[in-house]
Amino acid sequence: MSYVAVRIAVHDPATAAERRQNAAHGASRGSVPGTMQAPKGRKQTPHLQILAGPCAARMLATCLVLSFALIACARQKSPDTPQTVSSTLLPATMNSDDPAPKPSINSSRAMQYVRDVVAFGPRPIGSPNHKKLETYITSHLKGVPVEDDAFIAETPEGKFPVRNIIAKFPGTRDGIIVIAGHYDTNYPLRNTGYVGANDGGSSTAILLELANQLRGKKRDGYSVWLLWTDGEEAVKQWSATDSLYGTRHLAEKWQKDGTLKKIKAFLLTDMIGDADLNIEQDMNSTPWLENVVLQAATRLGYQSHFFGRSIPVEDDHLPFVHKGVPSADLIDLDYGYNNVFHHTPQDTLDKLSPQSLEIVGSVLMETVRLLDKM
Ligand SMILES: [Zn+2]
Repeated sequence: MSYVAVRIAVHDPATAAERRQNAAHGASRGSVPGTMQAPKGRKQTPHLQILAGPCAARMLATCLVLSFALIACARQKSPDTPQTVSSTLLPATMNSDDPAPKPSINSSRAMQYVRDVVAFGPRPIGSPNHKKLETYITSHLKGVPVEDDAFIAETPEGKFPVRNIIAKFPGTRDGIIVIAGHYDTNYPLRNTGYVGANDGGSSTAILLELANQLRGKKRDGYSVWLLWTDGEEAVKQWSATDSLYGTRHLAEKWQKDGTLKKIKAFLLTDMIGDADLNIEQDMNSTPWLENVVLQAATRLGYQSHFFGRSIPVEDDHLPFVHKGVPSADLIDLDYGYNNVFHHTPQDTLDKLSPQSLEIVGSVLMETVRLLDKM
């Protein structure tokens, strides 16, 4: 993920009202008032939320102006973006007596995938290492129907091949749950030794492990499509046109061929390997879907790693959000103190933990299970 922004959270009574309204909305979607309290994040929502290293050093006044612009912009873009997930109302499926086995993944195998991916070196679009990684991913998908969405992207640095890879696991229910994550690494840092262990590596690996979990099993629920997205990173500077090359293309394509309206949920993973895992509550994601994710995390006992702070994130889910697909971005943008390792050569394996991969992987599987029942 590349987008950096600065936002200062202002306690706004109107927003609080919107949150209550959102909770009521959740109730109309089959929720019942629960007794569960809001989970205690390891961090309380800070009054000052800084997402960007560079701007942190700038004048606070400038940041303040920018932050209000960003908040306004987010509100205009999506009517439900400023609302926060309510955990005071949980869907009726949330039941502590639920006898279903708690899912888990093979986290040491997932971690080995990260090591393998990092060993290729920098993997920006158009590079030989990127090509090797494409082959690595598809070689782990033998026996699974795989579809490519390959095209040439026009970028500020010229034309590049971009290839989204989709592995399909059919289910008995009509509808699709997409679980996505990008596999390209930052382009501007391509000659710095940057390997993107967390940013690019962790998302690639978790999807490979989820493929292992899904392979060869009959799915009594929605079809699950695993999507390795490409060209997520900007090639020059993050903007609406210099970013998200793969998902912008794929969302268009799926809208044209009718796939989009079959997608029940778009679950995105990005930077989920940090040993100090703090998944953000993304204000650009769909509140009811984030609520299901929180419910899944809570049943597995992982809620302290989720939604400790609320921030708007620009990531691969946006092209789908803008087309009305329920989407949730699971991202940890607190990678090292003040996100200091993000987009630096310090994004290396030693910062990652198999336990974080376990947490996100199992929460994703539990989320799918809950969605199947809804
Ligand atoms: Zn990135």
